[in-house]
Amino acid sequence: MPTKKTHEEFKAEFEAKFDGVLELRGSTYKSARENISVYCPKHGAFEKTASALLRDNRSRHPCPNCVKELLVEEVNSAWPDYL
Ligand SMILES: [Zn+2]
Repeated sequence: MPTKKTHEEFKAEFEAKFDGVLELRGSTYKSARENISVYCPKHGAFEKTASALLRDNRSRHPCPNCVKELLVEEVNSAWPDYL
């Protein structure tokens, strides 16, 4: 039986997971299914559902622009120097 999280509980989980990567700023958690605005220090604000943010363990960077940059870096570093 899922219990409803409070904003404080969500904030604690969010900070434990995204400390230094994303900020909550003034956003208020309402429910797991509702979009919440989070702030990427590099790219600015974007929205995701609260449950998606906490559920996705594969990515420490839920910011779509950070993900793009990380992919580009991987491709660049995999590229041999002599080419
Ligand atoms: Zn970003």
